[in-house]
Amino acid sequence: MGRIRLLPETVASQVAAGEVVERPASVVKELVENSLDAGARNINVVIRRGGISLVRVIDDGCGMDRDDALLSLERHATSKIRSAADLQAVATLGFRGEALPSIASVSRFRLTTREARAIAGTEIIVNGGKIDVARDGGEAPGTQVEVRSLFYNLPARRKFLRSENTESRNIEHQLHLQAIGHPQIGFSLIRDDRMLFQLPAAVTLSDRIRDLYGAELLQRLVEISDAASPKVRISGFTGQAGLSRQARTQQLVFVNGRAIESSLLTGAIREGYHTALMKGQYPVTFLFLELDPAAVDVNVHPAKREVRFRDPNGVREAIVRCIQQTLETARAGWQQKFRAPVQPPAAVSGRRAPDLTLRSEVSAPEEAHRELPHLRVAVAGGADSGRAPVPEIVRQALRLDSAGEAPALKQQQRAAKAPQQQFEIIGVLSRLYVLMENADGLVLVDQHAAHERILFEELRRRMEEQGVPTQKLLLPQTFDVPPRDADWIERNLSILQRMGIGIESFGPDTFKIDTLPSFLDVSDAAQFMRKVIDDLKSAGNSASTMRLGEEMIAKSVCRHAVKANDPLRFPEVEKLIRDLLDCDLPYCCPHGRPTMIQISLAELEKKFGRKV
Ligand code: ADP
Ligand code: MG
Repeated sequence: MGRIRLLPETVASQVAAGEVVERPASVVKELVENSLDAGARNINVVIRRGGISLVRVIDDGCGMDRDDALLSLERHATSKIRSAADLQAVATLGFRGEALPSIASVSRFRLTTREARAIAGTEIIVNGGKIDVARDGGEAPGTQVEVRSLFYNLPARRKFLRSENTESRNIEHQLHLQAIGHPQIGFSLIRDDRMLFQLPAAVTLSDRIRDLYGAELLQRLVEISDAASPKVRISGFTGQAGLSRQARTQQLVFVNGRAIESSLLTGAIREGYHTALMKGQYPVTFLFLELDPAAVDVNVHPAKREVRFRDPNGVREAIVRCIQQTLETARAGWQQKFRAPVQPPAAVSGRRAPDLTLRSEVSAPEEAHRELPHLRVAVAGGADSGRAPVPEIVRQALRLDSAGEAPALKQQQRAAKAPQQQFEIIGVLSRLYVLMENADGLVLVDQHAAHERILFEELRRRMEEQGVPTQKLLLPQTFDVPPRDADWIERNLSILQRMGIGIESFGPDTFKIDTLPSFLDVSDAAQFMRKVIDDLKSAGNSASTMRLGEEMIAKSVCRHAVKANDPLRFPEVEKLIRDLLDCDLPYCCPHGRPTMIQISLAELEKKFGRKV
């Protein structure tokens, strides 16, 4: 009896701070969100020593009067929701009424604020949760919050902080998130007296991306084309196929303006990219989802980093479709570059220097090509019946005829669909890179990667059209799995069989395999099966049947594709390029590495100092 006590208010706040204020970056997050909710147009952030010694956030938002300023420091005091019903559809970034008192309870805290039309502002100083001073102050309209000596009264917490550099970088990342999420708002960050960035207000998302990450990245992004799902509006930018990063710092996702972390969404993005993304790499994405606030529960995580969707599958599918569609649109843009006629050199050098000697030198390479006509061949017109040579083993597996042709009807359809391709092959570098010219300038093609992409799409088409060709094992293999996996296999037997894996139950937790897809070269069927099961399980329940098939194809194709230094005869190179341009995703191999690199004439002019 008598052992239970109500905690004093300051202790309760410190407990709450444990969840909300993890590190200096969380202080920045909460304060900037408050500024955004207050309708600020400009938000300036100053940090010192990784934010541990100082975080100051200054805004030109609506400000507070004296009573509200005092109240804002009470726990569960908020202007943003009033009832439990409001919690169903939160339209602001904040709503918990916990940030200010939490931060103030673990720091030396100073708040100054003034409403635009008020004669005087208010200044409040709090130390470790205790209000020391509340008086009139004469600040500019808006609010300024200063947080010094974070965790000075919680040494255990302080010990968990990382180096000043790391904490600074966390803060920078946090501000990047906010700045990308709100391009209409101006942001600046000063770190230890150095201005790290100053972003003007009222810009478009693409301007903001350029200001933060540079024009070069922006060039490699594609604007997202909305798949027009009635419930989720998706917009933003995403990397072209082949663009990826080793870390996920440029994979930003916003739900109703709130930056969130969500394995559901990142999984969906990855699935949308599928073979356009290297394994273990992360896409570059600035993805914005707008949906009815009632369809999202933001009250899941104390730091509001996660959300729950009422219809997670719907959201997921909308994103997958949207990314796929965007990449496909980007392909059209890429193919456009091969549609215009290749410009004759004279037209290109319209901006040439008036110097006559220089001009004659410019035309010299032309002479050289005339002497080597077999090296430089102009290729125009639609795809003909020629295809890249298909390796024997693949041909047999797919039961193609000896020329590697698909059935006649299919071939016609593809020819009809094929766009006019215009390019000139210049030669092959180092037996690997095909050099060519299109209307845009120079194109380099990785012949090996190109062949992988072509074979991959050919195989996939076959799988979709006729199912997977299979091969009987000489000796059927049995293998044991743990009960949970056995259960899983039982439930997915029919899927596995459709994929060309002849598998059946062979006693409790034991299975027998007697056929495998014939294009696979598997020495240990049991081990292969275990890998397949792992792959499929990690892909989740909703993964389509084709998915794993594609994965397997991608792997096997790589083995059968042209070796990097296989010399190809000229007509083969030409066919290779044509077939590549005909692919659904021509610009990257099935593993997400690029197949083609375009170097535009404009870039060349810049490099040669002809244009600044
Ligand atoms: P919440 O944001 O969840 O409401 P906070 O503790 O972060 O809780 O803030 C409490 C209240 O203080 C807010 O609801 C808001 O009314 C007010 N407030 C906080 N920061 C600002 C600011 N920068 N400008 C104007 N009002 C603010
Ligand atoms: Mg808040």
